[in-house]
Amino acid sequence: MSLDGTYDDANIFALILQGKIPSTKLYEDDTTFAFLDIMPQTKGHALVISKWSKARNLLEIEEDALAQVMATTKKVAAAIRKALNPDGIQIAQFNGAPAGQTIFHLHVHILPRWEGDPKGFAAHGAGGEADPAQLQALADEIRAQL
Ligand code: 5GP
Repeated sequence: MSLDGTYDDANIFALILQGKIPSTKLYEDDTTFAFLDIMPQTKGHALVISKWSKARNLLEIEEDALAQVMATTKKVAAAIRKALNPDGIQIAQFNGAPAGQTIFHLHVHILPRWEGDPKGFAAHGAGGEADPAQLQALADEIRAQL
């Protein structure tokens, strides 16, 4: 999919917001939702989305929705730091399939990074789909720092 297109109300993140598919929630407020990535690149890999914007990418997002998403990104990144003590935290956001975007509801990745670990993005996460119980335990650790 290119940078241009129509927002699909049945994209995976829309379905998560509608409660039609489960997610491991870290944080929610009136305008944003943060949850763990199901195919994590690193331990604690989280995603932040707007609950109301139908922007597919950065070029489409409303200024207020962007500010809300980034404020939540900062809040959740701080909690991840306290919970997991990473050496660095990467914030990533992809626009269009050639740039690596696979889900067309704007989202920000929060990736705790550790010295010596691989730095890239693997096609299906570092180890494929994570165990839901392990994700929930990790979410509990991070939520405790919010
Ligand atoms: P993108 O490549 O579009 O920037 O990132 C999409 C992210 O969504 C990927 O890191 C992928 O692992 C994650 N993802 C795909 N499907 C699901 C899902 O059903 N639940 C969750 N929590 N994450 C998903």
